[in-house]
Amino acid sequence: MKCEILPEQCIACGLCQTIAPSFFDYTDEGIVVFVGEAKAMQEFVPVSEEEHVLAATRRCPTRAILLHDSL
Ligand code: SF4
Repeated sequence: MKCEILPEQCIACGLCQTIAPSFFDYTDEGIVVFVGEAKAMQEFVPVSEEEHVLAATRRCPTRAILLHDSL
């Protein structure tokens, strides 16, 4: 599974980082980035993180997180 983030749609609500803190992080402005990959817009989701990332994706109020089976 691959995760894509759309920072232009992020409203810095903090939910995704709360739900999946090992996968999502924030810029100084609170906009979503990937942990350890601050410039990446897409990232493979480790199997161990899939459940959390899926939950975060469902809770994102602006649909700024997308999941893809493959890209
Ligand atoms: S849940 Fe969505 S809107 Fe909220 S910080 Fe994460 S990506 Fe941004």
